[in-house]
Amino acid sequence: MANLAAVTALVGREDVIFADRLNHASLNDAALLSRARFIRYPHLDLATLEKQLEKTDARRKLVITDAVFSMDGDTAPVAGLLALCRRFDAWLLLDDAHGFGVLGERGSGSLYSLQQEERAAPHLIYMATLGKAAGVSGAFVAAQAPVIETLIQHGRTYGYTTAAAPLLAHALLTSLQLIEQHSWRREQLARLIGRLRNNLQPLPWQLLPSETPIQPLLTGESQEAVRLDLALREQGIWVPAIRPPTVPEGRARLRISLSAAHTETDIDRLS
Ligand SMILES: *Cc1c(COP(=O)(O)O)cnc(C)c1O
Repeated sequence: MANLAAVTALVGREDVIFADRLNHASLNDAALLSRARFIRYPHLDLATLEKQLEKTDARRKLVITDAVFSMDGDTAPVAGLLALCRRFDAWLLLDDAHGFGVLGERGSGSLYSLQQEERAAPHLIYMATLGKAAGVSGAFVAAQAPVIETLIQHGRTYGYTTAAAPLLAHALLTSLQLIEQHSWRREQLARLIGRLRNNLQPLPWQLLPSETPIQPLLTGESQEAVRLDLALREQGIWVPAIRPPTVPEGRARLRISLSAAHTETDIDRLS
């Protein structure tokens, strides 16, 4: 809903959207609904994006991308994207649903490694959801004041939908405190990720390159993924099979998602 609001408020018929090919469905839907020209670039491919940006003379340009890719667990080259967007006078909308609360020292998300002034770039729009690490529901958008004012006035899924319940806002205050203060949860996650990757190395399926809690094990064929999903479920382990059309044809996988509440024993049991 936040992606729909932001994208449709910022661009329209005369504009162009550039999108990573593996973006989340909500960004794709938002792009289609905006009626802007929708150009996709190969996953993480800044060189192609640069060529596409060079070629356009559209009124407004908007680059949209997952910051952490939801089915792959890998991360967008945020600094490179930001620099390209500055050069070509384009906006960058980052969807950090899986980075917020998890990445960075205080869980600040995928922008953690940027300098303060880069984070305040006028063409950067940061969006994150609150149903994942924050454990509540909803989303927020952070950007410079004129952008936020535009979203408040023109964000249709914001203006035409009943506001989030106050109880969610109240629960979120506690979540934010835990996210900020409990570095041990992120340290625990990092340990579990390292252990899992180490344990799974010898298996016959390819572990995709991910440093986040999303750890996909590529089986290729859907049937194989489903077979493993069922076998694990029998043992009380929930690792869903992800198949086309959620992922490209021939790229079926088991999507392992780790949480700080897992233990090393859990990890060892899985492997
Ligand atoms: C989960 C997810 C969303 C949607 O968030 P909800 O809170 O479930 O609506 C949007 N973008 C990305 C990248 C996601 O992974």
